[in-house]
Parts: sequence; structure tokens; C-alpha cells
Amino acid sequence: AKDEGRGVFRYFQSEMDARMKARRQLEMELRAALIMGEFELYYQPFVSTETNAVTGFEALLRWKHPQRGMVSPLEFIPLAEEIGLITPIGEWVLRKACAEAATWPIHMRVAVNLSAVQFRGHKLTPVVASALASAGLRPDRLELEITESVLLRDSQANITTLHQLRELGVRISMDDFGTGYSSLSYLRSFPFDKIKIDQSFVRDMAANSGDAAIVRAVTGLGASLGISTTAEGVETLAQLEQLRAEGCTEVQGYFLGRPMPSSDIPALLAARTD
Ligand code: C2E
Ligand code: CA
Ligand code: CA
Ligand code: CA
Repeated sequence: AKDEGRGVFRYFQSEMDARMKARRQLEMELRAALIMGEFELYYQPFVSTETNAVTGFEALLRWKHPQRGMVSPLEFIPLAEEIGLITPIGEWVLRKACAEAATWPIHMRVAVNLSAVQFRGHKLTPVVASALASAGLRPDRLELEITESVLLRDSQANITTLHQLRELGVRISMDDFGTGYSSLSYLRSFPFDKIKIDQSFVRDMAANSGDAAIVRAVTGLGASLGISTTAEGVETLAQLEQLRAEGCTEVQGYFLGRPMPSSDIPALLAARTD
């Protein structure tokens, strides 16, 4: 029995070693990816419920891994945050997104996701300013999407940074609204330009009257605070119509368009003559 125990221990030991090795391997590949130019941005449109027009696109990071193919950001962003690599990756995203948006029709916005880690240090505001200036993009065409993790810890320093960013003229959106513990109190700590209603509420809106009530409350709150509301994860016409009826400002989701490479944007805009 004693030997058996040792065998089990050895088994776990080797399993842990394997996991550590896989992680170190991913870490090495992630560092190389930035240098090798393996990252790409896909763009997902958001559409006005009032005019049906595309008002902009959210930039979503993609890693085209030479062997493993397309790797989801959900798989590598947490590790990139842990090892601090999200800061240079995030800077690349900002510069690329601003440069590409500068080639779009003049009224179109680009939204960029920011990690809370990017708020550490004092570089975020100058990096955003520099990305806008090099691209020649008007600041009000850039939206920065943050989740409540930005306001969670060190929040006073981060709120100061948000105000600096706002002074540049960029717009600040609260992403994944309603998924955290105190989304409402965060609305009080910073005057957001936009609230993005998390897709989990949109998904079950038709079947679940509780979710429908939350969506209604959030769009109502946005309207009375003068904050626009975007519903994420809209997959059906029924959801779109319900959201329009509730007074939601914008919609985003597979029903309106999947994330696409920037080369597909001109065709999308040409096809939509609304
Ligand atoms: P997010 O910001 O909440 O982005 C929305 C996610 O939902 C995207 O996943 C998008 O492809 C997906 N989505 C859009 N419409 C639909 C729909 O109708 N149905 C369903 N089921 N899903 C939909 P994606 O691209 O895999 O990104 C996942 C997350 O990774 C993002 O969530 C964001 O938190 C993070 N992320 C992506 N790009 C960046 C980036 O450049 N920087 C940082 N820091 N995070 C990023
Ligand atoms: Ca987002
Ligand atoms: Ca979101
Ligand atoms: Ca999300």
C-alpha cells in the first residue's frame, strides 16, 4: 500500500510538471508572438437601434498560432496579464485599432478593450494620446471599454487615469455591465459614456422575465443618466426587436455581424445601404 501511495504521488508530481511545462511553453510562445507579428485584430460591428446604421466596431484580439491555429483571447489574456505582457500587447492593440479606424468612414468609432493591468504605472494616457496622434484619429472616435476590475483595486489612481483619458476626448464604456457585484456603485464613481449590457442578460431575455426586467432597468437608467446603452450578444431578430422596444441605443452580436478581419469591413458597409 505504501508503494502504491508513492506511485500516486509520483503520478501527480509528473502531472504537475507537465502542466508547469505547458504553461512555460505558452509563456514563451506568447512573448514570441508579439515579435513575430502573430496577433491580429478582428472587428465586430455595433448598430444603432434607431437608424440600423453601423456606428462603429469593437476590436477583438486574435492570436494566429503557427501550429495551434486561432487561439481565443480567453485562453491567453489571463496569462498575458499575469506575466505583464498585456501592457505591450495592449499598446499594439491600441495603435493598430486607431490606425485601421482612421481608414474607415469619418463618423465610425472603434472600441478597444483595456485590461486593469494596463492602468498600472503612468503610461496609459500618453500611450493612448500617441496612438491617436500617429494614426491621425479624432479622439472622440475612440472608445475604451473597461470592466469593473479597473475600479476594484487601486481605484482612486485608476479613476484619475480615466479622467485624464476623458480629457483627451476619448469615450469610456463600462463593459460586461451587471456581471459584477457592484456595477451600480461603479456608475457613481465615474461618468461613463456608455454601458454595455452583458450578453448573459440578453441571451435569456425572452424566456426569463427577470433578465428582461434587468435589461429594461439598465436601459432606463442609461436614458435618465444620459449614458448610451449597448446590448451585447444579440443573436436573433426577436432579441433585437425586444431591445429596440426597451429603448436600448445600440446592439452588437452575431445577428448583426460576427467579428471579422478588417479587410471585410468595406464589403460589409457597402452591403448595408441603410
Ligand atoms: P468582451 O469584451 O465581452 O467581448 C465580447 C465577446 O463575445 C467576444 O469574444 C465576441 O466574439 C463574443 N460575441 C460577440 N457577439 C456574440 C454573440 O452574438 N454570441 C456569443 N455567444 N458571443 C458573442 P472574444 O472575441 O473571444 O473575446 C473574449 C474576451 O476577451 C472579450 O470579451 C474581452 O474581455 C477579451 N478581449 C478581447 N480582445 C481583447 C483585447 O484586445 N484586450 C483585452 N484586454 N481583452 C480583450
Ligand atoms: Ca468588450
Ligand atoms: Ca462585454
Ligand atoms: Ca465579456
